[in-house]
Amino acid sequence: MRQYTLKNTHRMELRVLDYGGIIVSLAVPDRTGRVDDVVLGFDRLEDYERSSPYFGAIIGRFGNRIARGRFTLDGRTYTLATNDGHNHLHGGVKGFDKVMWEVSPFERQDSTGLMLRYTSRDGEEGYPGTVRATVTYTLTEGNELIFDYEATSDRATPVNLTHHSYFNLAGEGEGDVLGHVLTLNANSFTPVDSTLIPTGEIRSVAGTPFDFRAPTAIGARIGQDDEQLRYGRGYDHNFVLDKDHDVPASTTLAARVFEPSSGRVMEVHTTEPGVQFYSGNFLDGTLRGKKGTVYSPRSGFTLETQHFPDSPNHPDFPSTILAPGREYRSRTLLRFGVR
Ligand code: BGC
Repeated sequence: MRQYTLKNTHRMELRVLDYGGIIVSLAVPDRTGRVDDVVLGFDRLEDYERSSPYFGAIIGRFGNRIARGRFTLDGRTYTLATNDGHNHLHGGVKGFDKVMWEVSPFERQDSTGLMLRYTSRDGEEGYPGTVRATVTYTLTEGNELIFDYEATSDRATPVNLTHHSYFNLAGEGEGDVLGHVLTLNANSFTPVDSTLIPTGEIRSVAGTPFDFRAPTAIGARIGQDDEQLRYGRGYDHNFVLDKDHDVPASTTLAARVFEPSSGRVMEVHTTEPGVQFYSGNFLDGTLRGKKGTVYSPRSGFTLETQHFPDSPNHPDFPSTILAPGREYRSRTLLRFGVR
């Protein structure tokens, strides 16, 4: 395993592994100029191989769940590896988070970055077609961290790539994230069954604990008696971003998170139609992270920009099928600042 470091002149710094493309640390200044690491992870690299809940990793070939690990494409049914009860999660037993990426660093005038490449062979985890994926991480002088995803395939296959950092903008290990104030640019979300597979309904957030259109603390309604919150043990849902699905060319603002004690703000901009907001409910206090800190439930949150879960089984959802001869392209930009 090799580790790479990206820095800018505003004291932002991230460290990245070639294994899984994992971002093991992300240092960001607070409103007083103090720099803290804002992502959960491990001190020992072996722990990422052994027991990581996708901390900081690239997720692929398909981010999120595919029901019973099964889908039909061009009249043929494919059976995928199942690794989440009966379901397929985050690319299977050995997804893009657990493979070695070939890394090439680059420098530009106002940015620095890494290009990560991986070839996923035909049949891997049950998927058809050889997929060549390139993920580029760019750190800019504007305190932005940009993820550019590109892929091609020689056969039609589902592709849905994302990034899985768990953030705590007060600093990792600094308690839970319930006081973080979240805004989500989403009028609706995709409700799930008890195994977290979308029912197919696109439900309005109005009048529900899923309405984050105005800035609201993550913890404000998380304990409400609500069937969807029960299924997720908190938030673990795909939000439908307000944009025209047919025009995915440019990024739009998906989310803003503000952490009052540090003043840190993180904005998420994306070309994707959805974002999985996961409030770290399944961190159960058994994992020891950096400096031996026990990661309790909700000590980090993720905002996984993506196409909707289980899309290959929902013809009404925006398609995730990459056809041969076509190019998959997706961009997500995180912008850090203070208030
Ligand atoms: C999912 C959670 C899952 C977690 C794995 C998230 O992306 O939404 O349901 O438990 O990844 O650690």
